Amino acid sequence: LSDRLTETFRNLRTKGKLTPADVDGTVREIRRALLDADVALPVVKDFTASVRERALGDEVNKALNPAQQVVQIVNEELVGILGGQQRRLQFAKNPPTVIMLAGLQGSGKTTFAGKLAKQLEKEGHTPLLVAADLQRPNAVNQLQVVAQQAGATIFAPEPGNGVGDPVKVAKAGVEHARRQQHDVVIIDTAGRLGVDAELMKQASNIRKATDPDEVLFVIDAMIGQDAVNTAKAFQEGVDFTGVVLSKLDGDARGGAALSVASVTGRPIIYASTGEGLDDLEPFHPDRMASRILDLGDILTLIEQAQSAFDEEEAMKVAEKLATSTFTLEDFLEQMQQMKKMGSMKKMLGMLPGMGSMKQQMENFDEREIDRTEAIIRSMTIAERRNPKLLNGSRRLRIARGSGMTVTDVNSLVQRFDQAAKMMKTMARGGVPNIPGMGPV
Ligand code: GDP
Ligand code: MG
Repeated sequence: LSDRLTETFRNLRTKGKLTPADVDGTVREIRRALLDADVALPVVKDFTASVRERALGDEVNKALNPAQQVVQIVNEELVGILGGQQRRLQFAKNPPTVIMLAGLQGSGKTTFAGKLAKQLEKEGHTPLLVAADLQRPNAVNQLQVVAQQAGATIFAPEPGNGVGDPVKVAKAGVEHARRQQHDVVIIDTAGRLGVDAELMKQASNIRKATDPDEVLFVIDAMIGQDAVNTAKAFQEGVDFTGVVLSKLDGDARGGAALSVASVTGRPIIYASTGEGLDDLEPFHPDRMASRILDLGDILTLIEQAQSAFDEEEAMKVAEKLATSTFTLEDFLEQMQQMKKMGSMKKMLGMLPGMGSMKQQMENFDEREIDRTEAIIRSMTIAERRNPKLLNGSRRLRIARGSGMTVTDVNSLVQRFDQAAKMMKTMARGGVPNIPGMGPV
């Protein structure tokens, strides 16, 4: 999707005034791009119709830069459909807040339950996970494992005590939470591979029995055209208050987000972006719109960096930047922080204009960081603190010590110099000049 739209807008940018033919051509491309991204057909039709209408209207005609105005309109319309403002989880006035999960089997409910529990724990809540999926033999077990990883408590039916009714278990779970002073209850439920009347009835009964503050519909972002039917079925069968888009780390570029939000009118609250329990982000309509438009998810990127760098560390670096004492030791620390941030490929994927750099991303080798580490570790403290000391013979010694070549050492020093320059630019409040990254 992104590559296509980028191309379309590039064509527009080279033009002055827009003719109706320009608008039609652009709308046609947008339509094709959205269909490629598996946005459902009725959604695409509505979307392109309103973009077309606005693009032919006065706001574009009178604009100084008509092409930019069209981009603006497409962006606004996307943000509008995706819910406008970011919507946060709603907590009950009188705890416990009850959150029920619904969705097809394999959509990512149990994983999300763990992610949410972990995040809530971090924020000082005391979530209780309730295992109300009694359909699959291993489901309770899976939630147990997830709860343990999240450091959260689980309420599960005891084996052999005759509690085989998911509705009763869910209700008992909420009562248990109230007695044990858990302020949030997350109810994991069963799913089927396809939409199914019995499953819907069960989910609807769990809803009636527990009166949840939020019913979150978890949907796999890769589901494609089925997104519309599945979402409609769950809206009619259980009704939900919000959506969790899972597996956004895959190839999906937002097609399902647009379809579900457009068809159900319900806000997307979370984006689930991996199998690990930390791979959870609040959903930002404006950023998703930008991502669809390939402007890049800069804000998410920055936020991830912020949560990975611990704050003290960040303060230290900032101080060093201010006093220009950024050293190779700091560089090494930064590299290690970067490793902590998780896959570099994922990070690169969020940078703007990187759609066309997929191949290069595939070639990125995280062992590079290990090699860098080896080289820096072979330096003396004095050398790490003052890279200017690194003359030819010192570089040779370091290369031998780390099992690398002098060229490797040279290229590291060069990269360090670039990084130091970039850090200085950022410290002055500027935006570093990364190739392929336009103004934000
Ligand atoms: P449930 O049947 O709805 O409870 O789905 P699960 O939570 O068991 O998830 C089904 C599969 O999808 C598991 O293998 C998960 O590890 C995987 N999964 C869940 N969420 C994500 C995600 O955000 N990204 C990726 N890549 N995999 C996920
Ligand atoms: Mg499950």
